[in-house]
Amino acid sequence: MVPENLVVEEVEDHNPSVVKVLKVKILGVTEDTIQFIVQGIDAAFANSLRRTILSEVPSMVIEDIFYFDNSSVIPDEVLAHRIGLIPLKTDLDNYVLPEKCDCNAELGCPKCRVTLNLNVEAGEEIHSVYSGDIKSVDPSVVPVSPNIMLAKLAPDQAIKFEAYAQLNKGKTHSKYSPVSMAIFQNIAEISVEDQSLAMKCVEEAPKGVIYEAEKIKVINVQAFSKSQTCRSLLGTKPLIDFMKKDEYVFTIESTGALSPIRIVTEAVKILTEKLHELRKKIDAGEIHDEIELFETPTEVGRRLYAIGAGDFDEEDEEGGEEEGKGPVYEE
Ligand SMILES: [Zn+2]
Repeated sequence: MVPENLVVEEVEDHNPSVVKVLKVKILGVTEDTIQFIVQGIDAAFANSLRRTILSEVPSMVIEDIFYFDNSSVIPDEVLAHRIGLIPLKTDLDNYVLPEKCDCNAELGCPKCRVTLNLNVEAGEEIHSVYSGDIKSVDPSVVPVSPNIMLAKLAPDQAIKFEAYAQLNKGKTHSKYSPVSMAIFQNIAEISVEDQSLAMKCVEEAPKGVIYEAEKIKVINVQAFSKSQTCRSLLGTKPLIDFMKKDEYVFTIESTGALSPIRIVTEAVKILTEKLHELRKKIDAGEIHDEIELFETPTEVGRRLYAIGAGDFDEEDEEGGEEEGKGPVYEE
């Protein structure tokens, strides 16, 4: 069920001369997906939320493996890579990121890692090894699905290992991303005065549109386009003419590591922290030093860019060995 307080939330900009209202409406939540509308943001902000979800929300995945036996045909490294991609149910409340843990140990401690074991030996017949064969010391951190095949063992072959899972972020490696999909799309809004026509459109495309305050909101273009009644609401204009620039529908699909609501709320928390940090830096006048790191200020980087673009600034033309424009080749 959708928590009541999440359905609509209004936030006023802290600067009283600019009052912006942010509205959130949850369209649907399942075990591993969430779809919601955010009104009152621009595309850049929508994208920063998407990128935070993809690369900043941590999840737990196997990072280190110690083999005791691997007599299967799959090389150790290939098998380890495969095992590292298994999504694990993540317990964000009881574990910390390794870099934030006070243990400073290379392989972590019980506060920042979970130990998992696999011990499978084929008998006289071919035996398939699945993710469900991996046993975890913590029942809250187990493979999301027990049905991911890892290897097939011929008679008398075996795989035995001890593995350590840790929390980390998608920006370190995409295997840590808690989502298999995180997208946002523009919402189109069409004013409809004829209520019966609007209701017919909703009836024909229940997954494509919602009807609110005499307006049809298009949340799924494919579903909308399949209904002739809905299409007739556009008149002679293309749908793109009705797109809003301050309202987006997000669709997030979890790998199963975290619940979709937790992923979004965690991302909002992380984004808020980052924005507070940025405000602190601006207030302290630190912004220039920090931002310099993201430019390409080195002489080599700038020169390469300038050569590629065929565009030197005055300083380069005067002092440099390479005169003229465009790339310089040695003869
Ligand atoms: Zn630790």
